[in-house]
Amino acid sequence: MSAPAIEASGLQKKYEDVPAVRGLDLRVERGEMFGLVGADGAGKTTTIRMLCTLVLPSAGEARVLGLDTVRQAASIKEKIGYVSERFNLYPTLTVAENLSFFARLRDIPPEVSEERMKELLHFCRLEPFRDRHAEHLSGGMQKKLALACSLVHEPEVVFLDEPTTGVDPVSRRDFWSIIAGFLARGITVLVSTPYLDEAERFHRVAFMHQGQIIA
Ligand code: ATP
Repeated sequence: MSAPAIEASGLQKKYEDVPAVRGLDLRVERGEMFGLVGADGAGKTTTIRMLCTLVLPSAGEARVLGLDTVRQAASIKEKIGYVSERFNLYPTLTVAENLSFFARLRDIPPEVSEERMKELLHFCRLEPFRDRHAEHLSGGMQKKLALACSLVHEPEVVFLDEPTTGVDPVSRRDFWSIIAGFLARGITVLVSTPYLDEAERFHRVAFMHQGQIIA
């Protein structure tokens, strides 16, 4: 039997004397869309960054695809995608150039990346904008491009930190329907949001408050 996509037990993070995450237990099955819902400062970003191996936990442990986030961080990074709250697109590169830059970062051979980029542009409805500079895209389109860039290496698990914050309702709906398309292909998605009304889009939801899951 394969390991769950994500599991955490007693996960904690303290910044100096600020307890950002206080003993978090979590289990996300493969193919699930799991929502982490909480107000600003609840500890969502810190949790996601620990699971993505970017922040070391102060205590507890976590596994992604059965791999330990501290001891096997490099292997995890190859298998996951991550879109941070303030993701980094290159403003003066076009949509297509941003995608090809991320494909090269991930060492994807050009003959493979060409085909995959075409597919991602189509899937994320960005084809008409492929030659537009990222800085001239709307907020919603920038989020979609960041999503496409995080999927270019075909990750098994994607972490999306507040992907719809600041996006208008129509673009939000569009964004979720794109995610649903990727779920249909068996990817696992962990997504954080401050919007309670988005919770119904997820298979399961955890509510975070002051560094803990309260429901
Ligand atoms: P937001 O949506 O505002 O990012 P969040 O739920 O993602 O909120 P975190 O960013 O994880 O929450 O922050 C949890 C707590 O940890 C907050 O009190 C925050 O101020 C604190 N914190 C986060 N990062 C650091 C850091 N690098 N140094 C010190 N304190 C931090």
